[in-house]
Amino acid sequence: MLDNLKQVARKIYPEESVEKIRDAYNIANKAHKGQLRSSGEEFIVHPVQVAHILMDLGLDADTVIAGLLHDVIEDTDMELEEIREIFGNEVAILIDGVTKLGRIEYTNKQQRQAESLRKMFLAMAKDIRVIIIKLSDRLHNLRTLEYIDEAKQREKAHETLEIYAPLAHRLGIYRIKMELEDTSLRYIDPKGYYDLVEKVAAKRKEREAYIDQGIKVLHEKFDEMGIEAEIEGRAKHFYSIYKKMYMQHRDFDQIYDLLAIRVIVESVKDCYAVLGTVHTLWKPIPGRFKDYIAMPKPNMYQSLHTTVIGLEGEIFEIQIRTIDMHKTAEYGIAAHWKYKEGKQSNTELDSKLAWLREILEWQRDLKDASEFMESLKIDLFTDEVFVFTPKGDVIDLPRGAISLDFAYAIHSDIGNRCQGAKVNGKLMPLDYELETGDIVEIMTSSSSRPSRDWLSLVKTNQARNKIRQWFKKEDKEENTDKGREMLERGAKRQGYVFSELAKPKWLEMVARKHGYSSIEDVYAAVGYNGLRVNQVLTRLINEYKKSTSVMPPADAPIDVSADTKGPISHVARDTGVVVRGVDNIKVRFAKCCNPVPGDDIIGYITRGRGVSVHRSDCINVIGEDVEEHRLIEVEWVEADKASYFAEIRIVADDRHSLLADISLAIANMKLNVTAINARTTKNKEAIINLILEIGDISQLNRVMKQFRRLRSVSKVSRVNG
Ligand code: MN
Repeated sequence: MLDNLKQVARKIYPEESVEKIRDAYNIANKAHKGQLRSSGEEFIVHPVQVAHILMDLGLDADTVIAGLLHDVIEDTDMELEEIREIFGNEVAILIDGVTKLGRIEYTNKQQRQAESLRKMFLAMAKDIRVIIIKLSDRLHNLRTLEYIDEAKQREKAHETLEIYAPLAHRLGIYRIKMELEDTSLRYIDPKGYYDLVEKVAAKRKEREAYIDQGIKVLHEKFDEMGIEAEIEGRAKHFYSIYKKMYMQHRDFDQIYDLLAIRVIVESVKDCYAVLGTVHTLWKPIPGRFKDYIAMPKPNMYQSLHTTVIGLEGEIFEIQIRTIDMHKTAEYGIAAHWKYKEGKQSNTELDSKLAWLREILEWQRDLKDASEFMESLKIDLFTDEVFVFTPKGDVIDLPRGAISLDFAYAIHSDIGNRCQGAKVNGKLMPLDYELETGDIVEIMTSSSSRPSRDWLSLVKTNQARNKIRQWFKKEDKEENTDKGREMLERGAKRQGYVFSELAKPKWLEMVARKHGYSSIEDVYAAVGYNGLRVNQVLTRLINEYKKSTSVMPPADAPIDVSADTKGPISHVARDTGVVVRGVDNIKVRFAKCCNPVPGDDIIGYITRGRGVSVHRSDCINVIGEDVEEHRLIEVEWVEADKASYFAEIRIVADDRHSLLADISLAIANMKLNVTAINARTTKNKEAIINLILEIGDISQLNRVMKQFRRLRSVSKVSRVNG
């Protein structure tokens, strides 16, 4: 037994450590002398097997030594101090930790379970190797469970399923987890277990044939692609089949992932390449693809999972991962504790263990043990959900978030106009609680508006704030008062008394022009900045002037030195634009936004150069810097002028003959182009600016539509300022 132990140890550790392991064996052997296990074997067999499991997991020599000595404090006369003297503090701390864990008695009462779990977590936060030794200890005990009486067997098996297997899972040590679960199942439900073994065996031949065929196809494909891959057939462990059958009430035939192929490659890039290949070879089952590479499980597990339908209708799962990910999957946290020659850096591990400490902090806040137990049943580690937009963007929300939170997380407009939500293609209520992996599509309608109950439904502050904002904006009374005050102040600044301007008839004109149904609405719109003060005042002042036929006040903002030669009709016919209330003023079109007939326009009174006409959404006439008193109302009229300049921008994926296609489209539409400017960005995007001669907005819209139809064009827009 010692020779075998040394032989294995020598492959991993330097001679110095092998000697210490030998010493530990001798001390343990002597201390346990005369003790027998229930199997009748000498007791020393047990710690030696535990040491082997630890070496198999690749742990450091100190842990293996502690494994050999893990039962001496509890079961023999040895003192911890002796061990500390011989093997040092590290080993002593580990053994002390394991001994303390061993004293925790398992009972079926929830309170007790929770307390032991809590203590285990505490120990784990001190040194995770204590838990790994404990798991190895339990694994070997389970392997030899047949020798104890039935009641004890069941108790141990339950305890394993309740505490040890979940711990192995948390730590990502799947190898141990699976064996713990399968063995426990054998004692808890022997009939169920052996039934399953039989069913699986009956299907084995068929399964193996499919798997072998699948592996062969993949190997050929990967050779072709030049991808180095290790491919293996994987048997799903019994307990997970059992759980699916009994918890999800499914028949054995409905368990699809009995068949599995695992592909191990060198790089993450290869993982996705392999996934692509798999999906071209076999049809993937929708909803079964999981990307744990982009979103690792809390226990650090990473892989791509997909379930496909084979050529003969057989369904099997494929897992794709890198070599590193595979190690983490098999050994979990132990993989990060692996013995390394020379210096051993634990900084990386420490950061990974930070979550364990967080849990400790967190569990201290809980009132009692059963609450802690309850929270373990929910997933401890995910306080977030990851959901997808229909385009596949990942939106990260706190756990408990509902569809509405999602809508507001995308954009406040989407939230405000949200009418319903489709989750995974199905219509769901707005308060549907999202789960990781959901694909959410928000349906909007221009007539939808937020409701006050939403405030109590949403879970994120972001959504709540946006809803509040909306109501604030919509708060009619408040905004109406505010708007009226703003208009009063604005009128005063321009030398008028607002009450003289605010004739209902005129205000109604303003309302009609801007699409509001009442005078109140006009005030409110001014109040929430939906309408500019001067958009309203200019009109009112014009009407006022018309009605009183008096000259504008001396400080009126019109620059009368502008060119005023020629009859009105001449100017208007020339440009197609008239300035409301001002005759014969020179008008020019702003180069920044190039308005064309049909555009909503506004005039800007320049110094000495008449009025320049902008699109009313041009950035040069909106915003803080604009001198509002210079804005003046202008209108399109019937004109001689046949064409206007419009600038548009085409964004496209750069490709061969893109410009040629654009030129051809221009020629086909018989357009005059006065300027063209093309460039490509770093990410192979072509941006083409064109200045076109255009008759009016409807022609421009037709032209833009034509450009949008060109291949690889992603966006065609009007250049604005
Ligand atoms: Mn033991």
